[in-house]
Order: sequence, then structure tokens, then C-alpha cells
Amino acid sequence: MAVTGPAELLATWEAGLDRPGADRALLLHRAARPGADPGALLSAPLGERAADLFALRRTLFGDRMEVTLDCAAAGCGTALEFELDAGAQAARRPRLPEGGLRVAEDGWEARFRLPCPADLAAVAAARPADATAARRLLAARCALTAHRSGQEAAADDLARLPDAVLKRFAEAAEQADPGAELTLEIACPQCGAATPAELDIAAYLWTELDAWARDLLLDVHLLASAYGWSEPEILALSPLRRRYYLELCADG
Ligand SMILES: [Zn+2]
Repeated sequence: MAVTGPAELLATWEAGLDRPGADRALLLHRAARPGADPGALLSAPLGERAADLFALRRTLFGDRMEVTLDCAAAGCGTALEFELDAGAQAARRPRLPEGGLRVAEDGWEARFRLPCPADLAAVAAARPADATAARRLLAARCALTAHRSGQEAAADDLARLPDAVLKRFAEAAEQADPGAELTLEIACPQCGAATPAELDIAAYLWTELDAWARDLLLDVHLLASAYGWSEPEILALSPLRRRYYLELCADG
């Protein structure tokens, strides 16, 4: 992966500061794949984006990721910790079968592509009444071809895909793109209950980038005050030299 410089990363952070999570995820994806077309990034399968973001995380902050959450069991609330390996997660890339995901169920025969960030945004914008309505909208968007009793399905039929077809589509998508969602069961050492933990790599990486950016701006402030260097000059220093000069400032 091409290493994005501190000036570009600071610009990414600044652009995402007052933006919602979906926009931040796209900004991070652009940092992970500089030069890629934003439209292409929005139509990449969810697991591909997650893998790219894990790879970016590995480049910026290393492999070892620590995640903390509270035990969900009633009356427990023990703080749970677990570790993830960013490199291992970055290797979980989607494998779409030739011709797409095939589903034959309930008189239907359909082929689907994998859901992408643009699909999630469109489904959210349609404000579905419940989770089933959301799944139905998503499946209709991802359908490449659909036949019902041998007849090509109209858009109206697609909007009413039966639950059995939705279920098979979800199963096929999960199998082809296991990295799309990362859900782990974390056992509580206190009460023994398992708490499901979902890791949103975009949100996780954003939190880290935010802390990094604020620390870096403080370094720029200290060095600019001490030496009169400009921001680009300070950002051009290697992290090692920056730290060395900061130590000299603190000693003086
Ligand atoms: Zn517990």
C-alpha cells in the first residue's frame, strides 16, 4: 500500500470533521486507495472496503488492534477487551462467484451482486419501515436478473421478493463476502455471558485518526513556536526527527 503522507492524512481528517460516518468512511477509503475514482469506491463490495481500511490501519498504526466494550448481560457491565490483527482482517476479501450470487427458491431464480456502500446509502435514504423492508430494498437493488416461474420479474415483483429469497441472498452474500460485517462473540470472564461485538473499521479508524491529528497539530504548534518553522516544514520531518526536536524543546 502506498503510504499517504501526514499532510494528506491531516486533509482527510479536516474534510471529515463535520461529516457523518458514511462520508468519513468514504474519505478513509480514498486515503487507502489514492487515485481511485470515488464512484468506484462507493460501488466496491462492503468487504472490499473493510479490507482496504484494515490495510490502511495496518500501514498507519500497525497490526495490533485493541477493542473494548462493556458486557451486555443485565447487571454485569464488566469492561471486556479483545484484540484483532489488522493484517489478517485485510486478507478477508470478497470472492464473488462467476455470474454473481445465484439464488433459486420459492419459484424464483435470481442472480445478485454483492452489496456496496452506495446501496446502504440508498436504502437508508428510502427510510424503510423496518429491517425486513430494508433487506427487501437492498436485495432489489442488488438483483442482476430475476425470474419468477420462468418469467422475467418486473420491478414491482422485485420490490416484493419473498422472505425465503431474501434469506438465501443474505446467506450467499455473507459466504461470498465474509468481511462485509465483523461480528464477534466476546465471553465475559466475570459472568460467562457472550456479548456480540460488531466492529465498524471505518469508525474505529476514524477515532484513531482523530487522536493522531490532534496530537500532530499540537506538535506543529510546539515546534513552530520554538523554531519558527512552517507547518509544511514540520510535517515534512520524519516522526523520529519530530519527536527528537520536541524532546530538545522540553529539555530546554
Ligand atoms: Zn458479564
